[in-house]
Amino acid sequence: MNTRRPMVAGNWKMYGSHAANAALVEGLREGLASLGAATDAVDTLVCPPFVYLAAVAGQLGDSGVAVGAQNLCAETGQGAYTGEIAGQMLREVGCSHVIVGHSERRALYGENDELVARKYAAALATGLTPILCVGETLQERDAGSTSAVVARQVDAVIAHCGVAALGRGLIAYEPVWAIGTGRTATPTQAQEVHAFIRGRIAEHDAIIAGSLRVLYGGSVKAGNARELFAMPDVDGGLVGGASLKAEEFVAIVAAAAV
Ligand code: PEP
Repeated sequence: MNTRRPMVAGNWKMYGSHAANAALVEGLREGLASLGAATDAVDTLVCPPFVYLAAVAGQLGDSGVAVGAQNLCAETGQGAYTGEIAGQMLREVGCSHVIVGHSERRALYGENDELVARKYAAALATGLTPILCVGETLQERDAGSTSAVVARQVDAVIAHCGVAALGRGLIAYEPVWAIGTGRTATPTQAQEVHAFIRGRIAEHDAIIAGSLRVLYGGSVKAGNARELFAMPDVDGGLVGGASLKAEEFVAIVAAAAV
């Protein structure tokens, strides 16, 4: 039995509108309230698109659901970085967390390990809690390089920020082949990689490795959350598609509270 507090985080990706978000938040508030005290044991977070952060934070109010962004600029402060959003700005509109290195950003927007590590550092420097996404493609898994890929992605952050910095964030293991595909890693496959990540960090610092929360992401839904979260090194989930449906997200939170 570990003492790590589970987290269920929703990545809304580039979905939503003012009207749709308001309905989703209403559903989350009602659904989570109906779970009662069970939700006290779980951290909950939603990550809407940038432009909706302030409104969603306002609508969530005192619900206990935190708000995070899906990305941030690697530079801190203000400056001539057209189109970028700094960590301080995210804080100002109500964010406590930020996702860094999501596989869609790595694959579609050319974010490499070094840039992801710089973003991780920028998040910490601006008072945000980073959620570092790591994970292998199907090709990499089939080639037997899952451990090497995940190790490289984790090591890049350790090299740039130091191992203590990992203790101030979370990691999300998200096998790329399971994201948005409906194909979930089996609990055993997830556990294997989560244990590997923890072991890798333990080579630097066993205490940080033991307390760090490692979320699983990749087609998590109400129907599979419970068995995934039952794994000893799985500390909750980063949820994409299913986080856009209040009922599903609430059921996933309930699964983490067991
Ligand atoms: C994600 O976007 O981080 C994700 C895990 O998506 P999905 O749950 O839809 O696979």
